[in-house]
Amino acid sequence: MGTDIATVSLDKYLTKKEQPLVICGPCSAESEQQIMDTAHALSEIPQVNIFRAGIWKPRTRPNGFEGVGDKGLPWMKRVKEETGLKVIVEVAYPQHVEAALKHDIDMVWVGARTTTNPFLVQELADCLRGVDIPVFVKNPPHPDLGLWVGALERMNAAGIQKLVAIHRGFYVHNQTSFRNPPSWEIPIELKQIAPDLPIITDPSHICGNRDNLGFISQKAMDLEMDGLMLESHVNPSTALTDADQQLRPEDIKHLLDHLTIRKNTNVYQKNQKLVELRNELDRLDEQMIDILGKRLKVIEDIGLYKKEKNVTILQLKRWSEVVQDRLKTGAAHGINEEFLEKLLKILHEESIRKQMIIMNVEKPNK
Ligand code: PEP
Ligand code: MN
Repeated sequence: MGTDIATVSLDKYLTKKEQPLVICGPCSAESEQQIMDTAHALSEIPQVNIFRAGIWKPRTRPNGFEGVGDKGLPWMKRVKEETGLKVIVEVAYPQHVEAALKHDIDMVWVGARTTTNPFLVQELADCLRGVDIPVFVKNPPHPDLGLWVGALERMNAAGIQKLVAIHRGFYVHNQTSFRNPPSWEIPIELKQIAPDLPIITDPSHICGNRDNLGFISQKAMDLEMDGLMLESHVNPSTALTDADQQLRPEDIKHLLDHLTIRKNTNVYQKNQKLVELRNELDRLDEQMIDILGKRLKVIEDIGLYKKEKNVTILQLKRWSEVVQDRLKTGAAHGINEEFLEKLLKILHEESIRKQMIIMNVEKPNK
């Protein structure tokens, strides 16, 4: 997938160079008191740049609290005036954008559920055309990079260059320890196809609880994400939405103070030790690919033999023995079992694919 999204680097309009962008605030605006108390406490934390609150809440099921609506906007304006923090709200309709702009809201984000809908995204983009405010776009709940990129491209095509992607994890059907597992490979792929686009991570909606917020925040920093969006409430247990994942401002401070912000390795590109280690890695990869090629050749020969003798491709008993044997060898080398199992599965799938071709056509072409 290619894209030519054109964006402005965050340090040109929001942060200092090499400093992560930090957005904090409650999942939902609930009352003026809750907003002001949370905002004042968060404004004391030097790392926090922007105050967030959901004014209109997209709830998956009906009959829950759906946000205070327009009456929350003056509260956000008051936050700006009293704390100096910039403010951001979620928008899902052009009317939301118009109301937000009328109340001097500094920036807006498109929520995960809205990103799934190109009609709405286009309407939002049209409404934002010519308005020079930063626009943040969350990934859709399901792992569809195309929809995420598509929403960013629609904004970009409407002239929005202060564009930021928010990685908030991806829904999976089976129970996991995360509310929305991070699937880091997806934001990393986005980085590869749009290298200048800033991406921040939203650990709150990834975790769904308070336990792993620090770990996910650190991981985001170590994977060179450009910032964090973290939910914070003065009294999380009373929160009307996402009570389990919000942190008190003092806990946000603790989390941020314990983050290690490592430098981009490019700074050390010429460091001798790193150069040597990378050369070693290049050599090992070359050997690994060479061995992989040889292994696939043996797989081909086995396929030809099986074809000649009319033997089925899948020999489950043999495969289980191979896996057990390789895992034992792997353990002796200190290789993580889960990782090795995944790798063996990929190798097996490719072997089956190759042997299927051999069984069913005269000669393998690939
Ligand atoms: C939110 O940020 O509170 C929210 C509704 O998140 P998402 O769109 O990621 O579900
Ligand atoms: Mn939330």
